Amino acid sequence: MTFEKLWGDLLPVGRYGPTGGYRRYSWTAADAECRAWFVEEATRRGLTVETDRNGNLWAWWGAPGPGAVVTGSHLDSVPDGGAFDGPLGVVSALAAIDLLRARGARPVRPLAVAVFVEEEGARFGVPCLGSRLLTGAISPERARGLRDADGVTLAEAVAAHGLDPDALGPDTERLRSIGVFVELHVEQGRGLVDLGAPVGVASSIWPHGRWRFDFTGEANHAGTTRLEDRRDPMLTFANTVLAARKKARLAGALATVGKVHVEPNGTNAIPSAVHAWLDARAPDEETLRAVVGEIVQAARERAARDGTGFAETCESYTPVVEFAGDLRDRLAGVLGGAPVLPTGAGHDAGVLAAEVPTAMLFVRNPTGVSHAPAEHAELPDCLAGVAALAAVLEDLGCR
Ligand SMILES: [Zn+2]
Repeated sequence: MTFEKLWGDLLPVGRYGPTGGYRRYSWTAADAECRAWFVEEATRRGLTVETDRNGNLWAWWGAPGPGAVVTGSHLDSVPDGGAFDGPLGVVSALAAIDLLRARGARPVRPLAVAVFVEEEGARFGVPCLGSRLLTGAISPERARGLRDADGVTLAEAVAAHGLDPDALGPDTERLRSIGVFVELHVEQGRGLVDLGAPVGVASSIWPHGRWRFDFTGEANHAGTTRLEDRRDPMLTFANTVLAARKKARLAGALATVGKVHVEPNGTNAIPSAVHAWLDARAPDEETLRAVVGEIVQAARERAARDGTGFAETCESYTPVVEFAGDLRDRLAGVLGGAPVLPTGAGHDAGVLAAEVPTAMLFVRNPTGVSHAPAEHAELPDCLAGVAALAAVLEDLGCR
């Protein structure tokens, strides 16, 4: 019952009626409401809640200290995202604690639920920003200067919510106190559907990154400028999107252009600039580097033909993550031989894996759809996820 109650309370927060999706962007009113919900539920359970220097939330069962068993996920969303990506891990963590207490388990090591801020990068462009700041994977100087679509910097956004922007940065003592991190997450594909299992254990995360492409040309009249006189960046952009798809298909990789800004964005005007963002992923780093290199090369060649300008900037890059093998096997064993499978999606667990023993649990997603309103997990599978997480936390940190 606790899972349903927790889930139901959080469900309406940040939901955008017209699409049915969520707009829970970090350091906004919706995000603040999600965070307040978490603080209230954790406090209700007698957990000690603190906000770290980067805005991540920590709820401790027992005193904070070294060797901690930490679980958790994130509460922010992509634009019009689904209800499960992130919140399922946070709600399941609180429900798992309830379950452990109900059967009399007590932690013998510090146990915490963490909520990482700006995991999706939907507002400031860099995914896993909270965990990257914690581990030092991004410099505080660069993070402070990140801007949202309205030009607001991260420094301004955190200050508006009572956090000191000068304090952003690596949190070594906290990081060293984590003995193990386990993130439960809705699966973002159909791996578990095909395997017929409600819960699985992650093996690895594909390397992935984001690149900003800036195509520049010359704004002019759509009715009076001869085709041969145009320098139209939309043409270069369009060809680059097609090239990205083809190069990725040939390499067994993934390439997506899901965000684009056009200037001046007028129906009867040749654009002066098109800014697009490439998301690329591959099974290994060599393939990823090769594919992105080929896409950039195709864009350059096309720009030369179109008389346009092209520039690319890598905004984030995450190497391949192999989760700790012994921990992965231990979890699969505790769960009675749960299947082990990789994912193409990035997670805070992937950032933390570079620093501490880290594992992930996936909960079956019947459609495989994610980052969209149709993202789903059936209630019995969610409850199986809670039970699995409780078993894992008990094995790692309780008696
Ligand atoms: Zn997520």
